[in-house]
Amino acid sequence: MSESTAPILAAEGLSKRFPITRGFLRQQTKQLRAVEDVSFTVRPGETLCIVGESGCGKSTLGRLVLRLLEPSAGRILIEGTDVTHLGPAALRPFRQRVQMVFQDPFASLNPRLTAGEIVTEPLENYTPLTPAARREKAADLLSHVGLRADLMDRRPFEFSGGQRQRLGIARALSLRPRLIVADEPVSALDVSVQAQVLNLLLDLQAEFGLAYLFISHDLGVVEHVADRIAVMYLGRIVELADRDALFAAPAHPYTEALLAAAPLPDPRARRTRPILEGEVPSAIDPPSGCAFHPRCPIAVARCREETPKLRPLADGRLAACHLR
Ligand code: SF4
Repeated sequence: MSESTAPILAAEGLSKRFPITRGFLRQQTKQLRAVEDVSFTVRPGETLCIVGESGCGKSTLGRLVLRLLEPSAGRILIEGTDVTHLGPAALRPFRQRVQMVFQDPFASLNPRLTAGEIVTEPLENYTPLTPAARREKAADLLSHVGLRADLMDRRPFEFSGGQRQRLGIARALSLRPRLIVADEPVSALDVSVQAQVLNLLLDLQAEFGLAYLFISHDLGVVEHVADRIAVMYLGRIVELADRDALFAAPAHPYTEALLAAAPLPDPRARRTRPILEGEVPSAIDPPSGCAFHPRCPIAVARCREETPKLRPLADGRLAACHLR
């Protein structure tokens, strides 16, 4: 693989299990399997979307690759270096290359700081820039995200939701990362503002060659930004495919059901795919075999006993289903 196409991020067999404890002695009784044996890569300049219902483990996965959570198993490689077990000092250069945009722009911004201080806080921690140089940089960052430099001395409560998310994006950009992990970055915003923020993310990607690991439950949003899509169900990736291939002909029955559940642009149009029924099962007691089998319209006996592996299909996509 040439250097230019080498992945910025690679996850190899990542798992995260949380112990469930009981009683005064906090004895572990069970485990919650939030992420199970997940592997993927993110290449320079691409957007890999992680999509799935609430509770499927997609946000935990984002926190694992940022090293905000310790994995129970597996490896995280950033630009080819294994960072899975690096301590805080050794991790510093990698923290600069991978930044995060959070779901709730208000909760993620320090209310005591001004906009200028917020967007340059990482520069204070990671670079020797003087206060004057940081202020100049703040004006530049604000203009890149469509905010006027004269708003620099205002505090977060003086901004609208969309403007606050722009501040969060400017802060994430300040160290010139190569990858941004964006966890539901527009789901807390008004619909009218969502498209503006998504278009801003796409413009910044083109300008800076950014890669995104974009986490969302919203297929409309994912269709707008994705190059490739990984569909998660109960902690596992069940399908990983190019966006157009996935939307044109989903391979996994769960992907089919997710697409069927998405709102139709034309209210008179009729659905041609079965709607998903039932709730996501508990990650503490996941179903045996294929975890999707209690909800799958085409399940067979084998599905209750054997967990399907994620394997390549004829068109190059990956899917985990015994029948595909
Ligand atoms: Fe459905 Fe079986 Fe495929 Fe799972 S393995 S998605 S239960 S057909």
